[in-house]
Amino acid sequence: MQKGTIQVQTENIFPIIKKFLYSDHDIFLRELISNAVDASQKLKTLSSIGEAKGEVGELLIEVKLDEEAKTITISDRGIGMSAAEVEKYLNQVAFSGAEEFVKKYKGQNENAIIGKFGLGFYSAFMVSDKVEVFTKSFKEDTPAVRWECDGSPEYMLEETNKTDRGTDIVLYINEESAEFLDPERIRGILLRFCRFLPVPIYFRHKNE
Ligand code: ADP
Ligand code: MG
Repeated sequence: MQKGTIQVQTENIFPIIKKFLYSDHDIFLRELISNAVDASQKLKTLSSIGEAKGEVGELLIEVKLDEEAKTITISDRGIGMSAAEVEKYLNQVAFSGAEEFVKKYKGQNENAIIGKFGLGFYSAFMVSDKVEVFTKSFKEDTPAVRWECDGSPEYMLEETNKTDRGTDIVLYINEESAEFLDPERIRGILLRFCRFLPVPIYFRHKNE
């Protein structure tokens, strides 16, 4: 197991981001689904040129709501990530994107910026106390990994035993965001944002 600190200049940019995005928290789902779509499309492309071996299978994306555990999980069957890619893309790219965002918009009118940016993966922390990523790369013999971060720049990365290709993002929904544990709320967001995507999105509510 490995522990590390994400290299960001701002001590803790989460409170700033939370404040900025106060009235538009539901973009987290759009951002995470769009990453899942990207990962699925990349797999399709790599497979068509012979770079990805093995069955492509159905590249569906699943959104699962568990009210009891207070989690929302977004799963895809896309390219997945190796440990090195998690370090690069989640610890460095996603966080530096968020930091850039804060620098750019600090001091500006909140209403003027809402909806005009893509905060990406980082937006998961607007609604979560903790985010876990289970991911397995399409590349053969690449161990699956679990990444965990509670919103501070400290993260944890370890090998895990996920056997199927792709990525599961588990959001531990925070108290202020309890509205997102309502299945109708999630359905509404999915209908609004995710109707015309190239990969089918399935919503599963644990109690149904
Ligand atoms: P962007 O999508 O604009 O590149 P994000 O912050 O949304 O920025 O994501 C950062 C990077 O993390 C992505 O470019 C991608 O490499 C990686 N990533 C995020 N989600 C997934 C996923 N579900 N599957 C594979 N890679 C992912
Ligand atoms: Mg993205």
